Amino acid sequence: MNTNNDFNPDWSKIGFGYVKTDYNIRCYHRNGKWGEIEISSDENINMSMAATCLHYGQEAFEGMKAYRGKDGKVRLFRPEENAARMQSTSRGILMPEVPTDLFVKMTEMVVKLNARFIPPYGYGATLYIRPLLIGVGPTVGVKPSPEYLFMIFVTPVGPYFKGGFATGDFMITRKYDRSAPLGTGIYKVGGNYAASLRANKEAHDLGYNGEFYLDAKEKKYIDECGAANFFGIKGNTYVTPKSTSILPSITNKSLMQLAEWMGYKVERRPIPEEELLEFDEAGACGTAAVITPIHEIVDVENNKTYVLTKDGKPGPVCTKLYEKYVAIQFGECEDPFGWTRVVEGI
Ligand SMILES: *Cc1c(COP(=O)(O)O)cnc(C)c1O
Repeated sequence: MNTNNDFNPDWSKIGFGYVKTDYNIRCYHRNGKWGEIEISSDENINMSMAATCLHYGQEAFEGMKAYRGKDGKVRLFRPEENAARMQSTSRGILMPEVPTDLFVKMTEMVVKLNARFIPPYGYGATLYIRPLLIGVGPTVGVKPSPEYLFMIFVTPVGPYFKGGFATGDFMITRKYDRSAPLGTGIYKVGGNYAASLRANKEAHDLGYNGEFYLDAKEKKYIDECGAANFFGIKGNTYVTPKSTSILPSITNKSLMQLAEWMGYKVERRPIPEEELLEFDEAGACGTAAVITPIHEIVDVENNKTYVLTKDGKPGPVCTKLYEKYVAIQFGECEDPFGWTRVVEGI
């Protein structure tokens, strides 16, 4: 077996790269139906050079994590939501939908098979889970593939905030759009990331943590970050953009529910760039960091800076939301929403 026998990490040092684990899990869709679940220890995929995923971007992915809790149990966070989102992506780019049962079952299997790679509790480290669905059938003309591979691999990742919960700086990019108003921005497809690579590199070269996109049509409203949604806090209200070109983040959806539960109001509506001046706090949210509180957002081309913290530190609302959210994920407190799912048998 082609396994990673040298794996013996210092959990306090583990970063965000790819680490080979023992197994991945696969299922093919052929002749209109899903086949048997296959367990593999091969890191490579064998497919036709004419596969649609390679030429026409017929590719969907997801991102989630398994969390080792304070009680030693391993939890997934709302995997049915990731299944539903991948189904939506499938409808968007004409791929077969992976049923929720199959998606969750394969997720639990691959986590269990790689249990020795799940970081212990206390380091903030997790097992990152990457499902992907690709068209593997050979086609040269532009049309959906006749065959698909759904697979999931995992890799242990360190905490996003190594030095503790901290703010980041972002820039607004006006030179590039990530997605069009009626395009694929609402689907989790690799093509959106290809479209973001240049803006993302420019942001990092200029010393920012990431780039914010404006709505592509009017260049007036905040859309989202390259890989995270935006929210702002104004008094007692959590405000997040409503747009047809942003990816529906499960973290954002959950934070909205949590904010309401904590007594905040929630608004989903277009947010004009100038409104950034009015927020007491703001954050970028997604599975990787949960919340990256925002220190400032700079509109580089227009030479404007919006400061979103008083003292450069995470604000009280972001901190409260973050702490409760992470406590639920790591089983440190009750889960009043039933979001977590214990993986039995680890
Ligand atoms: C995955 C992703 C997010 C975050 O979604 P979560 O479900 O919260 O992890 C936000 N924006 C984009 C573009 C994404 O691809």
